[in-house]
This record gives sequence, C-alpha cells and structure tokens, in this order.
Amino acid sequence: MVQLNHNYQNLRDSYLFYNISQRTAAYQAAHPGQPIYRLGIGDVSQPLCPAVIEALHRAVDDQAHKASFRGYQPECGTAFLREAIARHYGSRGVSLQADEIFITSGAGDELGNLLGLFGPDNRVMVLEPAYPAYVDTNIMAGHPILRRSAGQENGFLPLPDGQTAELIYLCSPNNPTGAAYTRAQLQQWVDFANEIGAVILFDAAYEAFIQDADVPHSIYELPGAQECAIEICSLSKTAGFTGTRCGYTVVPRALVRDGQQLHPMWVRDRTTKTNGVSYILQRGAAAVFTPEGQRQTQAALAVYRENARVLAEALDRLGIWYCGGRNAPYLWLRCPDGLDSWAFFDRLLERAQIVGVPGAGFGACGEGFFRFSAFGDPAETREAAARLESKLTVES
Ligand code: PLP
Repeated sequence: MVQLNHNYQNLRDSYLFYNISQRTAAYQAAHPGQPIYRLGIGDVSQPLCPAVIEALHRAVDDQAHKASFRGYQPECGTAFLREAIARHYGSRGVSLQADEIFITSGAGDELGNLLGLFGPDNRVMVLEPAYPAYVDTNIMAGHPILRRSAGQENGFLPLPDGQTAELIYLCSPNNPTGAAYTRAQLQQWVDFANEIGAVILFDAAYEAFIQDADVPHSIYELPGAQECAIEICSLSKTAGFTGTRCGYTVVPRALVRDGQQLHPMWVRDRTTKTNGVSYILQRGAAAVFTPEGQRQTQAALAVYRENARVLAEALDRLGIWYCGGRNAPYLWLRCPDGLDSWAFFDRLLERAQIVGVPGAGFGACGEGFFRFSAFGDPAETREAAARLESKLTVES
C-alpha cells in the first residue's frame, strides 16, 4: 500500500484569509451598499509597466515566425535575463556570475523547492511574525522548527541570541511587519550563520521598496554572505508580476556546506525537475531591468510609497505605535486599547468599514498587532486613512 507523507497531518488549517472574507461578507450582507476600504490585500493594484508590455508583445510575435521561434529554454533561465539581473546586482556593487542566478516562476515556488537541497534532520529557525510558507513548507518536509518571537521591544528585528539552527529564514523588508534590517544588523546574522555553519534563506521579495541608504537590498552587499546565503527574489511586488509570475533565486558558488557546493546541486535539481520559465515571460522580465523599465516600475512603487505615507501619517496623528511603511509596503501597528487582533478587525470594520489583516495570522507573537497593506488604489487608501482618523477614536 502506498505510504503518504504524514507530515501533512501536522499542518494547521489556515483560516486567516477565509475568516477575513467571511466576516467582511457578513458585514456587507448586513449593510448593503456600504463601501468597504480594503487595506488587507497583499496583491498589487498597478498594472505592468509599458516597457514590460511591449517586450511581452514582441516576444509573442517572435513565437509566430519560424526564424524567431523559441522552443525549450535553458532550465535555469535564459542568458539574456540572467545577465541582465547580474548587471543589476553589479550596479549595487554585488558581483555575481550570471549562472549563479536561477530564473523562477516566483518566490512562492522556490520556498518549497529549495528544501530539496537539505536533509530531513536540519533544524529550521523562523523569526515570527512570519510569512506562513516558511513554517508550512518545513512542516511538510518534517524539519524541526524553532520559532523565535520578535516584538515591539526590538522593533520586530530580532538579532542572533545564541540559539542555533541549520537553516535560518530572514525576510527583509519583512512581510508582515514592514521592518527592515540595517547593514550592521544583517551583518550580525551573516557572521552568526558562518560561525555555526548554517544556511540563511534570505527572502528579498520586497527589496525594491527600500528607501534608506543603510538598508541593504541584497544580503550579498555584506561581506561573507555569498558563503552562507541563498537569496530569493520576486518580480511580483517589484514590477507587478503577481499574475504574470517570474522571479529569481541566487545560489552562489561560494556557498559550501557539508563538504559540498550547493550551486551544482541546485543546477542538477532544476535541470531534473523543471523545463524552465516561458520565453515570453523572461523577455517581459528582462524589460524590468532596462533603464526605461526601472524608471517605470519605480513610478508604480511611488504610488504604494505614497499610500504608505498617507496611512503612516494617520497612525501618527492617532498616536498608534507602528513599524514599517518606509522601506516596505506594509505597516504593522499595535492594536489600540489593548484589543486582540480579531477584536480590532471587527472594530475597524464596524466603525470605519476598513479591512486589514489580524497579526495573529502570522504567528502567536503577532497577537495584539495588525497589518495594513499599501498596495491598494490611492483614492481608496486616502479615504481609508481619513476614515481611520475620523471614526477610530483611541481610548487609551
Ligand atoms: N515571500 C514573501 C515574504 C511574500 O510576501 C510573498 C508574497 O506575498 C512571497 C514570498 C511569494 O511571492 P511570489 O508572488 O513571487 O510567489
């Protein structure tokens, strides 16, 4: 009889977004016609930029003619895209070979796929509150998980405290907290990982939102990082690719653990398990890294930054503690009046018709906190910010 992976039975059902949509739908049914202001979504509202759209159209036309038609592409990514990304890293002072960059269908796929490189007994450190896939993929893989709690006292940016693990997840700028490590803070993690022989899985899905000069976009800006880290990047939030799907992962040749380079292992994994990302999408993705593409994607990001600024100002005036919103599209706030995160969800919905995400959905230490997203439509976000101030009097 076939044996299943019983680790799946250890997964907890995720009711977070289901509960949000159920409560919102119930409110709407009781208050027909009442507009709802959505600050919960983690999806983008701005379309793909013109440079990407033109490149996608041209690539579709390539496929129509025998002379320009492309069949299977290299499994790890086309040279034109890998080289464009290597030049992009170069512009930040990070030197990578193009073939250390692997083109992917997005960061979500990679978070699961990469675990194939590691044996079953590795202990995994997850800094909570965290993007739920870090925990769930490791439950599926049967890895022991050490959950470290971040909190307001360290600005939701925990540093190494001597506890060890073989795999360490870091996400900076962070989902859900919007907090981002400075160079000096991230260097502590790099040095710690090299000292104990761990591998850092560095999720850089939100690097494009960084504004502060002392916050690194890539972990490889720090000495020693190519010896200990895999970096997972995505064009989803950077360039509006949530529905188009393209990202990239860096596995440096210098990363050696357990007597082996991880780079050739990952080449072997990819050339076995995937036939790569479509030629058309890779042409669209390459357009993101042209000067025009960079200018245009920054214009879309400016919309989200302005949304974040408007929300931050409203929270400042209300005297509510928060972090994030400056180097990330998320604001992570402390629920006022000592409310727990679902009670605050209900109060916001009832009083101001605003929907956000309760922090309890990102780990136990997220209780008492709440996430706002700046990805929404600007007019809707401005209205939500105004309603926050006018409808939400904070009692203490
Ligand atoms: N990592 C983080 C921290 C995210 O917030 C997300 C998406 O919200 C992902 C990874 C997945 O991104 P992608 O759309 O590239 O799969």
